[in-house]
Amino acid sequence: MQMVMGNIHIHSTYSDGAAGIPEIARLVAKSGLDYIIITDHNTLRGLPEEGFYENVLVLCGSEINIEKNHYLALGISREVAANDGNPQEVINAVKEQGGLGFIAHPFDKGSPVVEDGRSYPWEDWQVKDFTGIEVWNWGSQWRDAIKNKPMALYFAYLKQEAPITGPYPEAMAFFDRTSRQRKITAIAGTDAHDFHIRRGPLQRRIFPYDYLFHTVNNCLFLPQPLSGDFEKAKEQVLTALRLGRAFIVNRRAGEPDGFSFTVSSGKRTAIPGEEIEFKEQKTILRVRCLGRSRKKVFLKIIRNGELYWEKRDNKVEGLLGKKGIYRVEAYLNRKPWIFTNPIYVV
Ligand SMILES: [Zn+2]
Ligand SMILES: [Zn+2]
Repeated sequence: MQMVMGNIHIHSTYSDGAAGIPEIARLVAKSGLDYIIITDHNTLRGLPEEGFYENVLVLCGSEINIEKNHYLALGISREVAANDGNPQEVINAVKEQGGLGFIAHPFDKGSPVVEDGRSYPWEDWQVKDFTGIEVWNWGSQWRDAIKNKPMALYFAYLKQEAPITGPYPEAMAFFDRTSRQRKITAIAGTDAHDFHIRRGPLQRRIFPYDYLFHTVNNCLFLPQPLSGDFEKAKEQVLTALRLGRAFIVNRRAGEPDGFSFTVSSGKRTAIPGEEIEFKEQKTILRVRCLGRSRKKVFLKIIRNGELYWEKRDNKVEGLLGKKGIYRVEAYLNRKPWIFTNPIYVV
């Protein structure tokens, strides 16, 4: 099994981002990522620019809708019309093209000092047939924490990471509830724009692209190494996202090398996104954090949305006593670090 790491939810100059796709790709090549997914607002203009840039796979989707119910559509080839009032129509149109779709920044709250407090939450919770949910959006979480102008200056200049607390608890609760009905995939997005702010003498770039490539990313498990053939590689990345063979990593806390989460039962071993049959006294859960980041790890095993085990260690291994949907949260140096998709023990 191979692991690749990449960044999802990036805006280029085809919408409100600050750089073109080749420029963004040039920055990624130096960041240690294997793939990125550009998602400009309501356009697929970047699609002809998909491809390999040095060794980085650059894919292009779209973020659909305007005032609310933003939906990240991946793997589509025709633009889908915005429909803020009926996001199910958008979800269906993406699905009809064989695309993947993720509910974006669902609990976006807004800040009184940014855009007059405007926010872009998800409002229609009756929807079905989406692929997954962006449980953590770096840009949205950062902005939501700004309650006044002094805080804006403090977060912009002194402590950029202070507002970053991990996936939104409401989003994780929704993810856990929905996972008990059907498999969906949790992802993190940076919502990279590289905003340039100019107010009188103040000039500040808020989260340049290359900074964000070192924040929240999505690691994918691939059965084979990433192909050098563009179409094959695209299919590999989208398939892993579709199946939830993925985990979220915050590189500001540490790199994910050496991390693994498996459940084995008899001769079979499952990774995140997979199902495995429960066998009494034979089903074993294992978590390993053996890379450079192995110190000071705090691991939580979540079963059916509730804390099952927790341990301050770089590994956990134990017999499972019952069926359930198991996922892992890991904190490193007191920072939110790794959040996996579940293994389904059935
Ligand atoms: Zn959005
Ligand atoms: Zn966005």
